[in-house]
Amino acid sequence: MALIKQAPDSFELGPIRPPSEAYSLLIRVTRNCPWNQCKFCHTYKGEKFQLRLVEEMKQDILAAKTIQDRIKEISWKSGYGDRAPEAARIILSNPPNQAYYNVALWLYAGGESAFLQDANSLIIKTNELAEVIRFLKQTLPSISRVTSYARSKTAAKKKLEELIGLHEAGLSRLHIGMESGYDPLLQHMDKGVTAAEHIAGGKKVVASGISLCEYVVLGLGGKKMWREHATQTARVLNEIDPDFIRVRTLTIHDKMPLYNELKSGNFTQSTDEEILAEEKLFIERLECHSNYVSDHITNLLQEIEGKLPQDKDKMLASIDRFQSLSPKERSNFIVGRRVGIYTNLDDRANSRKHQAVEQIIHRLSQGNSHIDDETIHNLMEGFI
Ligand code: SF4
Repeated sequence: MALIKQAPDSFELGPIRPPSEAYSLLIRVTRNCPWNQCKFCHTYKGEKFQLRLVEEMKQDILAAKTIQDRIKEISWKSGYGDRAPEAARIILSNPPNQAYYNVALWLYAGGESAFLQDANSLIIKTNELAEVIRFLKQTLPSISRVTSYARSKTAAKKKLEELIGLHEAGLSRLHIGMESGYDPLLQHMDKGVTAAEHIAGGKKVVASGISLCEYVVLGLGGKKMWREHATQTARVLNEIDPDFIRVRTLTIHDKMPLYNELKSGNFTQSTDEEILAEEKLFIERLECHSNYVSDHITNLLQEIEGKLPQDKDKMLASIDRFQSLSPKERSNFIVGRRVGIYTNLDDRANSRKHQAVEQIIHRLSQGNSHIDDETIHNLMEGFI
């Protein structure tokens, strides 16, 4: 298919990107997830996986360039000159469409990063993916960083030379949803990958020079498998030694297959305090050199962050600090986090916030000061 001369001022966008890619230009290279069976994931359920044609992706990149050029034009006409980020900020308040919003946000942040959507871009033929990345960087030369989601299993199947080729084409980082390193849990959750495949895929990505970010779901083992989930996930990560480990906390809602297991009693969700004990064991067992990042709103203690191994004690100290609070204060903090009043443990010292949380506890508990686990889990659903 030949490229049309005048690119439109809109392009296709997928539903999600990692929190760390909030300011990236989003280019959709496939639609949905080729696996789509994980019980804890609702994002693409009911949607059919599709590869996209290289020409379609190039067309979208040209459309992004058209929008970028228009914003730059507006910048000059509005007296901002080459300060396009300032013009982009104005467009953000009233964008003509989502593609404009994405390009404006990307320009506002400096225009350096792009994220390739959706769930597993490595499934594309290597030469086609490399062609799209090269075209992206040639068309929008301000882009110095290109990242994407991938599955371990697909990474494990690629030849090392193919991954090296993608790195040379400009692929800077892969985000892999590892979730767990414990085989019975991976199987129970229909993740479609084994711990050995996680290791093989992860190590190959690291060896290729592409930066690797592995995602772990805290609480995924529930009350039954939490201990093995913590220790085996740490074991697998120690073998891979990725650049980043990012944690998110399991949150279940009715669009996930896991919801039915929760209702039938086949899965028992851990409490916030139990998940923190799990995270403590997990961190204790980590012996890698990764950056540990807790940048998801579902995590109880987002301040647990640092570079391993040197920051391990500091990270564990945050957990100790929470665990040494009285039961009443622990409950206050959990509710404060789950209704979005607290960001970190220090926020408890703000008497206005503390009092607001106490009032919420009084209302939710109908005066008896006890908040049950189900109420907390229901509050968390609001975050996803
Ligand atoms: S592989 Fe990723 S996107 Fe696909 S179903 Fe599993 S968690 Fe969801």
